[in-house]
Amino acid sequence: MKTSIATVSISGDLKEKLQAIAKAGFDGVEIFENDFLAFDEAPRQVGQMVRDHGLEITLFQPFRDFEGMPEPLRGRTFDRAERKFDLMQEMGTDLVLVCSNVSSVAMGGIDRAAADFFELGERAARRGLRVGYEALAWGRHIHDHRDAWEIVRRADHSNIGLILDSFHTLSRKIDVNSIRSIPKEKIFIIQLADAPLIDMDLLYWSRHFRNMPGEGDLPVLEFMKAVAATGYDGYLSLEIFNDQFRGGSPTAIAVDGKRSLIYLGDQVRRAENSSLTLPNMPARAEVEGVAFVEFTVDEAETPVLSDRLRALGFRQVGRHKTKRVDVFRQGDINLVVNSDPDGFAGLSYALHGQSAYAMGLWVDDAEAAIARAVGLGAERFVQPLNPGEIEMPAVRAVGGGILYFLDRRSALARIWEIEFDPLDDNTDLRPVGLTGIDHVAQTMKYEELLTWLLFYTALLNAHKTPMVDIIDPAGVVRSQVVENGPGTLRITLNGAENRNTLAGHFIAETFGSGIQHLAFATDDIFATAAALSDNGFATLMISPNYYDDLEARFGLKPAFTDRLKAHNILYDRDDHGEYFQLYSPTYGEGFFFEIVQRSGYRGYGAANAIFRIAALRRHLRPIGLPRL
Ligand code: MG
Ligand code: MG
Repeated sequence: MKTSIATVSISGDLKEKLQAIAKAGFDGVEIFENDFLAFDEAPRQVGQMVRDHGLEITLFQPFRDFEGMPEPLRGRTFDRAERKFDLMQEMGTDLVLVCSNVSSVAMGGIDRAAADFFELGERAARRGLRVGYEALAWGRHIHDHRDAWEIVRRADHSNIGLILDSFHTLSRKIDVNSIRSIPKEKIFIIQLADAPLIDMDLLYWSRHFRNMPGEGDLPVLEFMKAVAATGYDGYLSLEIFNDQFRGGSPTAIAVDGKRSLIYLGDQVRRAENSSLTLPNMPARAEVEGVAFVEFTVDEAETPVLSDRLRALGFRQVGRHKTKRVDVFRQGDINLVVNSDPDGFAGLSYALHGQSAYAMGLWVDDAEAAIARAVGLGAERFVQPLNPGEIEMPAVRAVGGGILYFLDRRSALARIWEIEFDPLDDNTDLRPVGLTGIDHVAQTMKYEELLTWLLFYTALLNAHKTPMVDIIDPAGVVRSQVVENGPGTLRITLNGAENRNTLAGHFIAETFGSGIQHLAFATDDIFATAAALSDNGFATLMISPNYYDDLEARFGLKPAFTDRLKAHNILYDRDDHGEYFQLYSPTYGEGFFFEIVQRSGYRGYGAANAIFRIAALRRHLRPIGLPRL
């Protein structure tokens, strides 16, 4: 499988783009005419620059408004084509993309278009060039790849072929199975893009909202399966017009692009015997649960956090044999408090202050998980081991934090016994009935949301849920969830558009993305709330107005509402069951804990978000005031 990306997909000048594309491991690049025109070097130098990066120019594009023109425009169109051919030869590419005509003067007629392409094929053949024809979803006469194929078929010229673009086919909901009968040698290149499902004008949707395969909602996999069925094994080329990507980091976007193609190719390979030549990689990791979440703190903060965890019902059960690292436990939850000044935890503290910077996942096979992560271009994390320590496979994750993989088939299953001395916590405070981690909430800049959605879904056997807008009094936070079928993995990703929201404040003040809240599960939230109160743990006060509205909304009995209100418990319901939530106040720059009880309910309490955000904000240090 050879991979390519159009220069239009990422930000920067041509030089920066090529650097990022080469570094991400692509084999080729589509040169967009505007990227070339805006650049100061001659075509020959541009071609050399591409080849110096070890890349091939997969095609030059676009050549617009060609077929079906009346004279004298028709003659001029051919002159224009000859000039592009000159340019291509200087640059060193043999393929040009001709997109279907959108001109209002273009005449229809399949045979007329086929005749134009035959003539263009003759001219291209004289120079050893090839022409690929693509049906734009908004083309004037041709907006369906089946019609474009019919034109190519009738042109019957070996230098004329078809270009298929997943966006144009899928945005019009054209049956992808029509691709299966196209001879593979007539498909000159495959362009790929996904997009979120938005009901809008096709041209606007395409030019602003395309994203990488797997980041959107289009059935790109079905499209690719049909392509693979033809025996096609040429370039898969990303052509992504996205406003966010144009303003983003060229390196990060290029890495995402390459990852999206590897993941897509892997899915095709697993789905059917395909012609794609692909490296074999382990299947997506099955997540059995969150093994631990690790906080980095400094020595002075350790007693404060430890006492807070005890009030939440946790007991310290172990201390690391060689480092200043403690483990607290309740039910299946392990929280690690790391105040070791050396190593990555110390470094992370220096950069971000107190934070939940690492997370360990129980997977079916930790070695397989790390192999897949590395295959997908994730950055492996290793640090030197002290005697007696075991290596835990890990990659760099959200906000520069760490994602560890543990399994029950290796020594990792006994990590707590191997690396920690057991400890008896003599606290008087009692457990509050927390059983496990319901979800982990990570906050990031909105621009990073797609990156991490793709990261998690390509690596783990999990899917993403539709995007939900969380209304914060100071702006909108977009939220999307990565979860698996059994509910053993739930990560909510929150993308903040500005720093005034609670989420935006968190990333601005902690200098980066990370875990903003941890939601623990309980089987009886009222018992948990009572026990928390006995432990002296203050939960987040919810406005009384919330309960009046709630009672009316769900038709709740007043006695029940009073119980909720007495414990500051939020309530929601969907078709599958009920949901109860309570919160801690925020700590530091906006970190907090949540406790939930779910009985079949599938959401995350989005309807309650505005109430708890308003309550949480009351605890925040106003932006700009010094830290106390
Ligand atoms: Mg295209
Ligand atoms: Mg939550």
